[in-house]
Amino acid sequence: GVLGSGDFARSLAVRLVRSGFKVVVGSRNPKRKASLFPAEAEVTFQAEAVKKADVIFVAIFREHYSTLCDLADVLVGKILVDVSNNTEINYHKESNAEYLASLFPACTVVKGFNVISAWTLQSGARDGNKQVLICSNNQEAKRIVAEIAQAMGFTPVDMGCMSSACEIENIPLRLLPAWKIPIFLALGLFLCFFTYNLIRQVIHPYIREQKNKLYKIPIEVVNTTLPCVSYVMLSLVYLPGVLAACSQLYYGTKYRRFPDWLDQWLQHRKQIGLLSFFCAALHAVYSLCLPMRRSHRYLLIDTAVKQAVEKKMTIWVEEEVWRMEIYISVGIIALGLLSLLAITSLPSIANSLNWREFSFIQ
Ligand code: NAP
Repeated sequence: GVLGSGDFARSLAVRLVRSGFKVVVGSRNPKRKASLFPAEAEVTFQAEAVKKADVIFVAIFREHYSTLCDLADVLVGKILVDVSNNTEINYHKESNAEYLASLFPACTVVKGFNVISAWTLQSGARDGNKQVLICSNNQEAKRIVAEIAQAMGFTPVDMGCMSSACEIENIPLRLLPAWKIPIFLALGLFLCFFTYNLIRQVIHPYIREQKNKLYKIPIEVVNTTLPCVSYVMLSLVYLPGVLAACSQLYYGTKYRRFPDWLDQWLQHRKQIGLLSFFCAALHAVYSLCLPMRRSHRYLLIDTAVKQAVEKKMTIWVEEEVWRMEIYISVGIIALGLLSLLAITSLPSIANSLNWREFSFIQ
């Protein structure tokens, strides 16, 4: 059974029908909503639908749960699946599922399916997140809902008892929690190095020689800043491992907790490494684009004109040529190696390597 006829209810009904279930939908206005559902699904009034189903997905918003109280008698003994989400993390004191359970003490409430979008339900488990996180205080109800999720092509994940509902409801609202510190770190480093390079390449020549080099800001200054950030970030990936090893040697044991800051740092190494790769890749693109700039073309012509005026045949400086060739070659190899590190740190690739292969590449 599905209560509600909105986006989620419709996608749920479609997926359930396609997975071979008999579906009955409960709406406040079944006549108007019936055409929105697959023909195989029966669309009727809420009370009728509840009578016919043992497992009922409550696809309505928390704010409207109390309007279901009239159905309390027919809901006795049923399994209610709370699929709801909130608009803000920890918005309500108790989770939506616990609130639903408090409204209907004669029912068994299971939290689940909220981390799946209506789109994923429609397109099937091939596309998008496959995991359905489930929790309930009743093991049997949890098993039944897990079986339904599996039959629909999803992977049920048992998250324990109802006290986990709040955590499950917060999951769709999180915004890259593991990336926050590394992103702020990268931005902070970028700002520091950018200011330093701005002073060196733009402000200093202006003060000393009255030369206007403002045109360098969008590309040249950014381009010299990116590899600085990339190298420092890369060193920050390996530094905590060294500090951890030193701490273990110092205390003569590995059975001692690291300080919290070191623990946090160790846990963010992958994200810091990927951001280092991101900066290096941007540096490569910026560098490739340097000759495309107007300023580069003018400076090149200026040099040629000066050379002609001074009647110089060649300005070839062997040492400078070699230095640049080697510099670029080493840069390309460094970027190649960094790509290897970045690719092998992605979970899908890392999982296919054994520990020895992974540490060999690192
Ligand atoms: P929706 O399109 O606004 O549908 C809500 C439905 O609730 C309405 O169609 C209505 O159906 C029913 N309803 C029952 N009593 C109501 C009342 N008193 N006032 C207003 N509506 C009432 O919302 P939705 O996107 O399907 O979301 C439904 C639930 O699924 C929400 O709790 C949401 O957090 C959750 N969810 C949605 C998604 C998603 O991708 N959309 C993903 C995960 C979880 P009748 O008029 O037929 O009664």
